[in-house]
Amino acid sequence: MDLNYTAEDLAFRDKVRAYLEANLPPDLQQKVLNHKRLSREDFVRWHKILAKQGWVATGWPAEYGGTGWTPTQRHIFEEECARAGTPAILPFGVNMVAPVIMAFGNQAQKDYYLPRILSCEDWWCQGYSEPGSGSDLASLKTRAERDGDHYIVNGQKTWTTLAQHADMIFCLVRTDTGVRKQEGISFLLIDMKTPGITVRPIIMLDEEHEVNEVFFDNVKVPVQNLIGEENKGWTYAKYLLGHERTNIAAVGRAKRELQFLKRIAAKHQKNGQPLINDAVYASKVASLEVELMALEITVLRVISQDSGRPGPEASLLKIKGTEIQQRLTELMVEAVGPYGLPFDPAFLEGETEHSVVGDDDAAPLAPYYFNFRKTSIYGGSNEIQKNIITQMILGL
Ligand SMILES: Cc1cc2nc3c(=O)[nH]c(=O)nc-3n(C[C@H](O)[C@H](O)[C@H](O)COP(=O)(O)OP(=O)(O)OC[C@H]3O[C@@H](n4cnc5c(N)ncnc54)[C@H](O)[C@@H]3O)c2cc1C
Repeated sequence: MDLNYTAEDLAFRDKVRAYLEANLPPDLQQKVLNHKRLSREDFVRWHKILAKQGWVATGWPAEYGGTGWTPTQRHIFEEECARAGTPAILPFGVNMVAPVIMAFGNQAQKDYYLPRILSCEDWWCQGYSEPGSGSDLASLKTRAERDGDHYIVNGQKTWTTLAQHADMIFCLVRTDTGVRKQEGISFLLIDMKTPGITVRPIIMLDEEHEVNEVFFDNVKVPVQNLIGEENKGWTYAKYLLGHERTNIAAVGRAKRELQFLKRIAAKHQKNGQPLINDAVYASKVASLEVELMALEITVLRVISQDSGRPGPEASLLKIKGTEIQQRLTELMVEAVGPYGLPFDPAFLEGETEHSVVGDDDAAPLAPYYFNFRKTSIYGGSNEIQKNIITQMILGL
């Protein structure tokens, strides 16, 4: 197995790097590099810039407007975006619902939704989890009852990321209660402007409005918004979760954050010396760097072995990737100590240029630390990933 990039890969990397240098707006870049919050407009702006270049849908086949890149090229692109500090392309449309529409949708659904996802005309959110149905997703209770040409949807979704901005939600709904729980689920596309939908914010530990509860009260959804066959939604849902896991290790961002960590640890002092010279702190940074290098090699092994869509190894990448991300935020907070404590929302939201409470580098770090507690929960909690590893890899 050769884990080195070929000359073509390196030429591709240089092309991506040059493009990002020329096209990433500096104000967006500064927000990302400095851990500021991004608005809906920020995400949409970057999506539209990449769409113009034809580089939004790196995992789609070329026939639908994707790049048709190899897994290695996709990896290089993600690495370069992380290195440069681009906003993310949000996964809900491009990486989640689009592959399901391509694989199981009818022609009319493909023709209508896919171009709108590419151009960011529709902002999508994911309606899977419900109160009491997260890890045990198949127990979900939101009902969809057929009434002529419509389904009438009643129930509640929760933890719905950025639903406050969404035009569309893809939902798992129960269409049959008399069968095994996995067999009575369907996959519906629902327009968020339909009467009967209420979105309520859930404010996270860092005071950010990132997730929501979404309530459905007699919401009328046209039958043509059903994906595939009624009661086959569980199959489509599992297919989607396989796609959710691409770039789950987020190695590129962790590499950038490690450099940031080293910079702030060189700037902040302990006993009159730069903290990075403190033997105990330096050894914590070094162990993390070793873990990160090992993760990077593992990601490259996965890419070189198959089509770039990891199977159960994705669970391993998710656990290690999120542990490293969380550890980075812990060491950042440790580096800045009390300077990270004051909470300055105006600075975080980009309303003021400098933090009123001290060092600009330090001000966002406590909210960043709190926000990243989520990573071991979402996308299938790390405990659930460990169950998958014991069953699918270790065969226990
Ligand atoms: C920030 C954030 C954003 C999210 N965004 C979305 C979204 O956009 N759309 C969406 O549909 N969902 C979203 N989720 C929901 C997410 O998928 C669920 O939170 C996750 O699946 C866990 O489910 P739960 O919260 O119901 O916890 P539970 O399933 O109740 O789990 C509680 C605890 O018990 C543990 N546990 C549960 N079952 C087992 C088991 N069998 N073995 C060992 N341990 C177990 C879990 O690991 C966890 O620690 C988001 C969550 C967060 C935190």
